[in-house]
Order: sequence, then C-alpha cells, then structure tokens
Amino acid sequence: MEYINLKAQYEKMKSEIDARVLMCMNNADFIMGDAVSRFEKNLAEYVGVKYAVGCGNGTDALQLVYMAYGIGEGDAVFCPAMTFIASVEPACLLGATPVFCEIDMETYNIVSDSLERQIKKVKEEGKLNARAIVAVDFLGNPANYKELCEIAQRHGLLLIEDAAQSIGASYCGKMCGSFGDIATTSFFPSKPLGCYGDGGAVLTNNEEVARKIESLRIHGKGKNKYDNIYIGVNSRLDTIQAEILDVKIKYLRREIENRQKIAQKYNEALEKYVKVPYVEKDSISAYAQYVILLEDNNKRNELKKYLEDKNIPTIIYYPNPLHCLPVFEGINVYHEELGNSELYGNINLGLPFSPYLSENEQDYVIREIVNFFEGEK
Ligand SMILES: *Cc1c(COP(=O)(O)O)cnc(C)c1O
Repeated sequence: MEYINLKAQYEKMKSEIDARVLMCMNNADFIMGDAVSRFEKNLAEYVGVKYAVGCGNGTDALQLVYMAYGIGEGDAVFCPAMTFIASVEPACLLGATPVFCEIDMETYNIVSDSLERQIKKVKEEGKLNARAIVAVDFLGNPANYKELCEIAQRHGLLLIEDAAQSIGASYCGKMCGSFGDIATTSFFPSKPLGCYGDGGAVLTNNEEVARKIESLRIHGKGKNKYDNIYIGVNSRLDTIQAEILDVKIKYLRREIENRQKIAQKYNEALEKYVKVPYVEKDSISAYAQYVILLEDNNKRNELKKYLEDKNIPTIIYYPNPLHCLPVFEGINVYHEELGNSELYGNINLGLPFSPYLSENEQDYVIREIVNFFEGEK
C-alpha cells in the first residue's frame, strides 16, 4: 500500500499527460511559454483570484512574496509554531525574525488569541517592526480567516496565506489560495495539486504585486530579461510541469469530493479510538494529509510500529514545532505557551490517504487500527 497513491492517479490520466509531455519535447518547449500562462489562467480561475504567477516551488513562492513586499532585516513575521519550516524560512533568509504562535487543538491552525498576544509583545518591546502574518491551512484545513483578516487589518499587518497544503479546500464558500493580501502554493508531487517535480505559484488580486513577482521570478526583468529593474531570482515553472498541472487541475474537484468520502469513512470508523480531524462547519478540507491524534507519545509510536508490521505506511506530520528545531534554538518566543504545538508533534500520525485509496485499502487500514485497540480476535 502507498501512503499517497500517485501511481493510481497517473494511470487514470496517463494518455493525456503523456501526450502533453511528449508535445513539449517535440516542440523543444521547456521554460515558461504558452503552457505556463494557460495553466496560470486556469489556476487563477479555479481559486477565484485575478492573478496566478507560477514559480519554481512553494518555498520560492513565499520568498517572492516576502521580496515583493520588501520584508527583511528588523521585521517580525508571525506564523503558527506547527507548520513546515518553509512557511517562514524565506523570510528568515531575507533577515526577518519569525515569531511563533500557538495552534488550536481542534483544527491545528493558528490561535487568534496567541497571535494577538505575540503582536502586542513585539509592538511593546519595540525592537522589531511587526510586518506580516503567515496563515497556514495546515494539512489542507482552512485557517480562521474571519478572525485573521480582522487582526491583520486592525494591526496594519500584511496577511499571507500559505496554501501549499490546501488547493481545493474552501472556507465560507471561498477557495483557499484567495485569502489575505496574497497567497502561495506548492505543486510538490504529494500536495493536493502536485506536478512531477518541483513547482509553485503566487495567487493574488493585486495587479501591481503580481507584475512585480512576474519580474522578480526572472531576475527582476524589466521590458525583457536583459533590462533588469530589481534584484530578483531565477524561479520559473517548467513548461512540462505546467502541462501536467493543466491536465491534473481538471480532475481536482472530483478528487476533493473523493477525499471527503474517504475521510468520512475513516472518521466514522476511527473516532471511537483516536482523535480524528476536525473541520469547521463552513470549511471543506483538502485533506492533504489525514492525521489522527493518539492519547500520548507511546501509544502513537506503538501504533506506528504496529501498522508498519502490517505493511501500512504512516508519516508523522510534523514531529517538531518550529521553536524546537535546532536552527531556531534560543529564539525569543516571548514566553508564549506553545504546549499545543509540542503536544501535537508528539501524538500525531498520518494514515495512508489519497483520492485513489481503494475501498479494500481503506477497510484494511481501519481493520488493523481497530485490531490494535481491541486486540486481534
Ligand atoms: C510543502 C510546503 C511548502 C513548501 O513547498 P515546496 O514546493 O516544497 O517548496 C511551504 N509551506 C507548507 C505549509 C508546505 O506544506
């Protein structure tokens, strides 16, 4: 059994994808070009924003955003303590300071009260300039944008949505990737919309920023590549990846529906034994991962080992909150309690999940988890 069955997905789309990829090679069409602008248009339409700008990966997408807004030395960027380091790493690379906030034990997303406390502490201390909030739709579950937009506005902060895990998800009827001032996503193969290598995009309604990012991704180009107006980077979306994504995006709605059905089945069968994912009434999760929580670290590790012995792959998403990573050792966390983030890291377990997880596989995973708790009969 695969943790995420990308082979089954490819089987379903093989003839279309093969034809598109071969066409790129026959036309010697590899960097940017029509395929990229065509996919950008389709992605923007899917998400419901005016502009999508493709780039090399989801980390670069965030870096391009931080660069476009001139975030760097002396700036504070607020983010949830439990996320992938890439949410805030490019801001650190540019000289900014990350400020970690607590997560909620239901949605595993950033807690507004903790965010407010951290913003106040940074402002009171006066050493750093409070600049931006990076909200993450963790595991594909939308963050609380009603509260986050209000907080960002009240404190005059930029709100960035890291939608790397949430393309296809929605919140109050609006698609993820359309929240805040600007959003980013990743097309890493295992994400809800993945390509066959690295890829990413920036999503926004702001034309001026979209144009600046189009320049920054190609060495800060002006009228052309050799008329440079900014210090930029080289971060483009490959033509082949754009063609693959352009095929895959047509199947995304159906895939998100399948994800709901499979999650529902897991939920009903497992909620007696473990904490299953919680999704707000007005949200639809993309279930980038289907993650359960166990009662403690021992139980988590025991179940992981038990399932491994039954050939059921599992992954911990993620084992460590950012403030516990060696690279951030000694960073000022403003004495905010980040106990939920630490607890989550100790007790979470991702189960095999994808829109192509067969009924047999679903039943097998469920049966073995039930056996673990009830004892094999
Ligand atoms: C995957 C991911 C990224 C980075 O995307 P890459 O394409 O791997 O660079 C950023 N943020 C989050 C939350 C992610 O899951």
